Amino acid sequence: MSTIYRGIGIGNTSVQAEAFRIAPRKSLPELAKTFPNVESEMVRYQEALAAFVRQLDAKSAQAQEQSVKEILYAQSVMAQDPELAEMVLQNVKEGWSAESAVQLGMQKFTQELLGASDEFGERVADLREIEYRIIQWLQGDVEEHQLPKTGEIIVVAEDLSPMETATFTDVVKGVVTEKGGPTSHTAIICRQLGIAAVVACTDAMKINNGTSLLVNPTLGTVEIDGTLNANEKPWWHQLPTQANPLAKVFANVGSVKDAQKVKSLNAQGVGLLRTEIFFLNTKTSPTLEAQTDIYSEVLAACPAGEIIFRTMDAGSDKPIAFLNFAREANPALGVRGQRLGKSNPKFFTEQLQAIHNAAIKNNRTNDVAVMAPMIATASEAAEFAKTARQIGFKQVGIMVEIPAVISEIANLKGVVDFISVGTNDLSQYLFAADRQSADLAQLLDPWQPALLKSLKEICTNAKEVGIKVGVCGEAASDPLLCVYLMGIGVTTLSSGAGALTSVQEVVSRITKTQAEAAVKVALAARSAQEAKQFVLASLKN
Ligand code: PEP
Ligand code: MG
Repeated sequence: MSTIYRGIGIGNTSVQAEAFRIAPRKSLPELAKTFPNVESEMVRYQEALAAFVRQLDAKSAQAQEQSVKEILYAQSVMAQDPELAEMVLQNVKEGWSAESAVQLGMQKFTQELLGASDEFGERVADLREIEYRIIQWLQGDVEEHQLPKTGEIIVVAEDLSPMETATFTDVVKGVVTEKGGPTSHTAIICRQLGIAAVVACTDAMKINNGTSLLVNPTLGTVEIDGTLNANEKPWWHQLPTQANPLAKVFANVGSVKDAQKVKSLNAQGVGLLRTEIFFLNTKTSPTLEAQTDIYSEVLAACPAGEIIFRTMDAGSDKPIAFLNFAREANPALGVRGQRLGKSNPKFFTEQLQAIHNAAIKNNRTNDVAVMAPMIATASEAAEFAKTARQIGFKQVGIMVEIPAVISEIANLKGVVDFISVGTNDLSQYLFAADRQSADLAQLLDPWQPALLKSLKEICTNAKEVGIKVGVCGEAASDPLLCVYLMGIGVTTLSSGAGALTSVQEVVSRITKTQAEAAVKVALAARSAQEAKQFVLASLKN
């Protein structure tokens, strides 16, 4: 019997190629006081920093994806922040070697930049990357994974940083990582580039370089020496198209470029416009006019149809410098999303006004809707809806991300017009599993039976009071899962640009009978793996 490793699959088509293993990262050097000559040690640091910035520029030039270029640019800006250089200088003056000075400086810099000592997801990952790379340059030990220029490979790694994915070309057919959950950087990039991946594959590092691998993203499996069926097509390929699709296919947008891209892919609307993304590098609070301009620009690039702006979802993994944040031991459970409205009332009201102004400017007041993230109670929803309606919005909704609000849906009748399920956070709170945690990634698999049942409950509760249900979390970027979602009554699926075409193809083919049959079998499953297999099998019958 062949060896099969399991993880979370990203993509729809199996690939087979040889493993190209990227060695795990080395540990950082021990902290050491060597009392170096301050001037020459700072020259070493400046040279290492300059080399790192050149490396980032070179990778950025190679990157195919705009989002990767943006991450690399942000890393370059952060690395060259004069405050960081000042901290390094102080540490060197105290006798630390440049390597130690960078590590100590980065600890302090992380705390100051992010306003808390705890993990802040991708931002922290960026700072760790900067620290690691500068130290590599200081030690003259720069690992450059030169991917082959021809042939086909499956990259196998502990995890991948933006710099590593930047060099991906068509040679990379698949990716297997030990870490990274369904919303990790690796998963997002693979979706965008259409690379089959299995992330959170705990056995990944057992795979030797050169081993022949069959990666099946639909099943989330990596089979050693497995054979690829050369005629394999995505599972929906044989199904005929239907006249009346069960759901609309919207897209998630976080930049003007995203908006342009999903428009070119014929998205029927935008189900999640993440407004906080525009302010990740903004240090002072934007004026009403500045906000209006930002929203207006993105709105002008959006497709026709409904455009759902999500109000500022700051906090936890998305710190925003100009909002008042208290230091919290547990930020994901703290004052984040709409909860920040209490300590930042001016910004939150102005944001709604600015979105409305942008809608007027673009002549799209009938299309533009707003929804609030992180709503836990019906009264929070009512408060948000009241303000939004006073400003002039006709369509107002909330995100369902906190399990408590599921049993309150009945009380949202006449309060909101729609709800949109954020499965990324809903999983995090339902399973008490930090969405950034690589070790808990299995619990965050959107096929987990408990999540499937919660989603069904949401739809049942919403149907009773006539509220429309959409899904905008990563679950709606999984075409197979979309079958289940349509079966329980979700009428808007909002997926990432990378998955949009697949989701559109599936939605145009699935009948009500098929979707309902998928629900029946999925609800009988005892594991995420089983749920996926049962639904797939039901569609092949
Ligand atoms: C979600 O939580 O599923 C969601 C769509 O919001 P975000 O990922 O931006 O928190
Ligand atoms: Mg969320």
